[in-house]
Formats: sequence, C-alpha cells, structure tokens
Amino acid sequence: MIQARDIHKRFGDLEVLKGISLDVGKGDVVALIGPSGSGKSTFLRCLNHLETIDGGHLAIEGETMATTDANGTCRYAPLADVRRICSRTGMVFQHFNLFPHLTVLENIIEAPMTVKRMRRDEIVPKAEALLRKVDLLDKSGSYPSQLSGGQKQRVAIARALAMEPDLMLFDEPTSALDPELTGEVLRAMRQLAEEHMTMLVVTHEMNFARDVSTRVVFMDKGEIVEAGSAAALFSNPQHARTRAFLDHVL
Ligand code: ADP
Ligand code: MG
Repeated sequence: MIQARDIHKRFGDLEVLKGISLDVGKGDVVALIGPSGSGKSTFLRCLNHLETIDGGHLAIEGETMATTDANGTCRYAPLADVRRICSRTGMVFQHFNLFPHLTVLENIIEAPMTVKRMRRDEIVPKAEALLRKVDLLDKSGSYPSQLSGGQKQRVAIARALAMEPDLMLFDEPTSALDPELTGEVLRAMRQLAEEHMTMLVVTHEMNFARDVSTRVVFMDKGEIVEAGSAAALFSNPQHARTRAFLDHVL
C-alpha cells in the first residue's frame, strides 16, 4: 500500500527526513512513534502530498508518485495522477480541521460531492451509515462548535472514510483531547483496524500501539531507528535512543 524508499526532505538548512524507508502492506496497522520534532508529521504529509519530497521513491498501491532519477533529480508524476493516487488516502489530523460553518453531515458529504461528484441522495445514506459507525448519528445536524473534541475527531474519521480510502493516515489523533475523550476515538480506530483497514498512525498512545498495531516504527531525528512488533520493541529495544524514548513514555 505504501512503498517509501530513502525519502529525503529539507526545510531550508534543516534536513527533516534523512532517508526514510518504510513499506506498509495491505491490512497493516503501523504505529509511528518518536520524540517531537523527529519528522513524523512531515513524513505523513509527504505521503499525502501535503509536502513534496526532495529525494527518494514514493509509491502508493504500486503507483509511483515521485521518484529520483539517475541524475539525482526528484520528479513527480503529473499532478492529475498525484491527485488520483492521493485520493485513495484518508488523513486525520491532531486538530480535526472540520469546516466550522458546516454541520456534521455537510462536513462529511462535502468532499464526496465536490471531488467525487457524487449525488447528494447517493452520499447522504453512506454518510449516515458512517455516523452510525462512529456513534454520532444523533449529531448529524450539529455544528463542530457544539461537539466535544472526541466527537469532532470521530466526525473527522467519518469524513475521511466517506471518500472510501484504501489507507488511512492518522497524525496524533488523540493528542489534542482531554484524557477522558481519547478512549472513544481509539475505539473507533480499533474498529477500523479490525475491519482490516490499512493504517499508519503517529501516536503517543503506547497501549494502542501495543494492542492494535501489527508493527511499531521508532523514528528519531529524521531517521527510522528501529522497527518491530510492539511486543519485541517495547520489551527488548535494540538501540539506546529507542530505550531512552520508551523510558519516558511507557
Ligand atoms: P514531529 O511530527 O515528529 O513532531 P515534524 O515533522 O512536525 O516532527 O517536524 C520535524 C522538523 O521539521 C521540526 O524541526 C519542525 O520544526 C520542522 N518543520 C516542520 N514543518 C516545517 C515547515 N513547514 N517549515 C520549516 N520547518 C518545518
Ligand atoms: Mg507531529
């Protein structure tokens, strides 16, 4: 589903991704962990073309989005292809990013109608089914400002799913929530994982990583330091940097 090879990214003088290689297969649930500033969000944003890469090879579902040629020039596929490739990816952010002037239902049907040109009578039943799934059908006429953080994040998940993505990217989906609201969001994510959605999740929720992920990847200072099953990584980290990080968060 994701093939990332030697991905490089810099912001001016700052090299943020120093050759990231990661494969995510169908149905994998990969937890991406690491200290703040290590490049986790930047990597996720590159996968969804919210940032461009400077070097390496990036393919989604076997289709090349960007690749570096023999001369070291990184080239992207034509924009129409990049858009089509990225449309198979759903993303959920830390800060929900819902449209404040639209109701919950309108938030969910907006992209399917404008991007996928779906008819309203076609998408509304799907949107309602998704709202039922995240247990928010009774809020379909509410505005985001009338919802709790956990409810907003569940709407954001339903909104991403309305585009029928093949894989989902989550960037610290519970970090902005009060602790008592993280459980409801993690439950929705766990349910998605049980339905075999392919997921790449940046998270500080080590219990989620332990219970739900098929693999944990530890990133630090723009590099993947080590990766493995949660059981192996948490109980027997191979690198001092991983140990130091886990000592803080476990
Ligand atoms: P993480 O998500 O692991 O906390 P980020 O990917 O957000 O890390 O950031 C990695 C580094 O890149 C940080 O030093 C951050 O300040 C820097 N950075 C991120 N986005 C930008 C940007 N748009 N312009 C300049 N620097 C950025
Ligand atoms: Mg981040």
